[in-house]
Amino acid sequence: MSIRLRLTLLYTVILALTLTAFGMALYNVQAQSTYHREMHALAEWVKVVVAHRSRGYGPRGPQMPLVPPFPVEESPWPRRAGARAIYTQLLDLEGRVFIRSANLEDFTLPLSSAGLFALRQGKPWVEQITIENERFLTYSMPVIIRGQVVEIVQVARSIADQERYLSTLRRNLIVGGAVAVAFAFVSGWIMAGIVLRPIHRITQTARAIGEARDLSRRVQYRGPNDELGQLATTFNTMLAQLEQAYKQQQQFVADVSHELRTPLTTLRGNLGLLRREPPISAEDRAEVLSDMEEECERLIRLVNNLLALARAEARRSFQTRPVEVGPLLEEVCRQANLLDPTRTIVCHSGVNVAVLADRDALKQVLLILLDNALKHTTDDVTVGAAVERGQVLLSVADRGPGIEAERLPHLFERFSPVKEGGCGPTTGLGLAIAKSLVEAQGGTITVESRLGEGSTFTVALPLAVGE
Ligand code: ADP
Repeated sequence: MSIRLRLTLLYTVILALTLTAFGMALYNVQAQSTYHREMHALAEWVKVVVAHRSRGYGPRGPQMPLVPPFPVEESPWPRRAGARAIYTQLLDLEGRVFIRSANLEDFTLPLSSAGLFALRQGKPWVEQITIENERFLTYSMPVIIRGQVVEIVQVARSIADQERYLSTLRRNLIVGGAVAVAFAFVSGWIMAGIVLRPIHRITQTARAIGEARDLSRRVQYRGPNDELGQLATTFNTMLAQLEQAYKQQQQFVADVSHELRTPLTTLRGNLGLLRREPPISAEDRAEVLSDMEEECERLIRLVNNLLALARAEARRSFQTRPVEVGPLLEEVCRQANLLDPTRTIVCHSGVNVAVLADRDALKQVLLILLDNALKHTTDDVTVGAAVERGQVLLSVADRGPGIEAERLPHLFERFSPVKEGGCGPTTGLGLAIAKSLVEAQGGTITVESRLGEGSTFTVALPLAVGE
């Protein structure tokens, strides 16, 4: 079921329930007050008759004649006077009628046995009866003399008019309610359609993008910046990010292919040399084999770095905990020195602070920076730490050739352009891996470099407080 239909049905049902409750309450109040008014009138009449009886007027006993003994002008037994006539009868305690008003002629008002029982107990009794398809309300009251119930006065009046009024009211409420509900459904359907139109457009765009695989398309939305406006903007932002990621991905695949092709081409060339007839000299052969070994090493390094980068980028965040900076720097410097014991690494590890980081990831970052620094200079390399505005700044500085200003903005990108005649084996991935790892720990990595003076790479991570 569509949202449009669901929404429309929902508020139509709510409206129908509200109208039903309201209509029923209104009808009940009307019915109650109508019957109450009627009963009140009958009760007044019964009081008059009871007063007459207790003053000793009128005949007593079951054998008494059925003629009212009152003077006509004060007779409590009205003659038939249209629909509003009140019918009166007196009954003994067995429920036998011994006197009745003239308008009843020889007709008897019925009384239920439950009513008779209640009246014998001295309680008044009200009930509705139907005589020849006409509804009557009867009100009965015991006549009590010296604490004894001696007889029963029963009066009745037609409530056909009231019933008619109530049934008209009922019909009007039902018809009116049904019309209101139908109107609400139609207008709700139209309104829901108007409100949901932008969503429909977004869906169409998404489908078109899926079919055409065209991430450059955007949702056209002209309207206020309400929830739907925000949805359209968010959707477009997401598309822009997807498009950028897709392009980066394509670029990355192209770069990887290119990087892999160079060593593979060299390897194939060298294999051709080895198969040459007549065979190449033993010296050339040794050179070719060492070349091939180097290329294989490069391939392995490249693949390892790609794997490390993929892992670093997949790790969107690390669980960071306080890491003592001093011991970490010492460990990193010692490890770097093991690779080339002839080099001097000046390690300022005397800082007594802790940084919020993942120890292994941070170590990997520092090793990448140290490796680069050692590769690009023959001079000393300095590793140190400082605290600044709630952050720990870990730096690796060298006094090497420095990096050209125009290369700096792209230095941390994957396969960043390698300097012509660069030193040592390169893959152009080390700094990209370092950046991913630092950012996944909530930190930043920056570089300052001057040609001929050297470069300083700085990793900034949050200071671990209170540890
Ligand atoms: P790789 O070192 O494997 O080539 P990196 O991403 O680590 O890849 O480095 C990218 C480039 O940045 C290097 O090729 C080099 O030109 C430059 N670079 C990195 N560190 C230094 C440094 N300490 N001094 C000078 N140039 C550097």
